[in-house]
Amino acid sequence: MKLFRISTLALASIFFISSQAATPSLKITQGKKGSTTKAQHTIVGITEPGNKAFINNKEVHVYKTGTFGDIVTLNEGDNTISIITKNATAETNSQEIKINYKNISNSSLSSKDPAARPKTTHISPALNIKTLPNAYLQFGDGSDRLGGSKMGYLEAEIPLKAIGQTSNLYLVQLSKNRVAYIPKEYVAETLERAEVDNSGSWAINNTGKTDRITISLPTRHAYQAWTQLDPTTICVDIFGVTNNSNWITQRNKLGMIEYVDWRQVDCDVLRVIIKLKDKYSWGYSVGYENNNLVINVKHCPSLNLKDLTIGLDAGHGGKYPGAIGNTGLKESFVNLDIVQRIKKLLEKKGAKVVLSRDSDVDITMAERKKIFCNANVDLMMSVHNNAGGSALKEMGTSTYFKHISNRDLAQCVLNRMLELGVRNFGLTGNFNFSLNAPTEYPNLLLEALFMSSLPEEELLADPDYRQRIAEQAVKGIEDYLKLVKQSKKK
Ligand SMILES: [Zn+2]
Repeated sequence: MKLFRISTLALASIFFISSQAATPSLKITQGKKGSTTKAQHTIVGITEPGNKAFINNKEVHVYKTGTFGDIVTLNEGDNTISIITKNATAETNSQEIKINYKNISNSSLSSKDPAARPKTTHISPALNIKTLPNAYLQFGDGSDRLGGSKMGYLEAEIPLKAIGQTSNLYLVQLSKNRVAYIPKEYVAETLERAEVDNSGSWAINNTGKTDRITISLPTRHAYQAWTQLDPTTICVDIFGVTNNSNWITQRNKLGMIEYVDWRQVDCDVLRVIIKLKDKYSWGYSVGYENNNLVINVKHCPSLNLKDLTIGLDAGHGGKYPGAIGNTGLKESFVNLDIVQRIKKLLEKKGAKVVLSRDSDVDITMAERKKIFCNANVDLMMSVHNNAGGSALKEMGTSTYFKHISNRDLAQCVLNRMLELGVRNFGLTGNFNFSLNAPTEYPNLLLEALFMSSLPEEELLADPDYRQRIAEQAVKGIEDYLKLVKQSKKK
């Protein structure tokens, strides 16, 4: 159709326009930078699909998206690389790029700038602070693109003692021997002081959909919760608390909890030990009602999709497009498209689906989490697509979890994704991604493929392939439900 139009124009003797329209396009999207310290230099360009491309006179593969690329070995000093695109009528377009390569392998480069680490200065006397909504503790003062490694979220209005600070964190004394960091934006100064308290009475009840443990305390205290496997146990350390609870009465029949026990693990740290009946946990929450610490442990839901509410999160959106492929394809678009396909498939099977976003809008991580918690989802999957590594290679698929209790869920989805014949980029645990942090429901992150890889961008640009990704993701969730069913039969 396009060629026909060009020839019509040519017949009309509008030579200028026809020669303009016939020139194959050529845009360099990677490797244009003027200097590098790496000898292996990746060049990526884009032209109209169907054209040919040559880098330093070597023909390279042009993907269906029009992208192409190659790795060029540079000589020390100045290099000139020629890139040519050629269309069906043998017209060409060319560009030369000049790259200076400096070999620094022998020069002494300090690996890390010592000033890069924030310095903690002491605060004396200690500053009384309290938590605000969405507060969380970090193990240390480190940070990367996902933020500092999180210990867990904390309820608001918990008094803490700040004994040090960096520019954006307070160092807080949780107990005699435990400290943690907390971002300053999630605390406020208070007159209330964090002091060691005795615990009061405990109550354990079956509320219908959860088992609820209530521990009465004179004031709110910071805590840290985690799950252990073999046997499946939820542990909650309450800091600044000494046990003075002399019995734990369990009257009615519980749905998920087998028993509750406690240990005084340090002079001022009380550990709550919750042994579950099932191998697979369906989530729990820790928070306060007045000064009572309340732990809600979810019962196992019906394991049929038609009875479940599944949360789906499409990464990025609005002014945050996420990774952008070499053709300009936005990750936020691909994520949402895959999520909408998964939603349709799940709804066809009778599941109720809750989305964090249904259009190209930006939503904070805290809002996304709130949507899923408010909807009381049974399970949540966040869908992203990766970036990094070589543009010329297939990089692969990967799934991620933070809490060990979600490992099998992430593995089930990964196994089904691998059936597509893509490379295994891996199963990653302890992942510090915000949407892997909630303990309220099982969750995982799927990084389907790499936006930055030319062969994988070609797949992601294809709606039929995105449908296949969605189908595999649904099969993965179904596999997990089967796994849970089987574990209950034993
Ligand atoms: Zn992403």
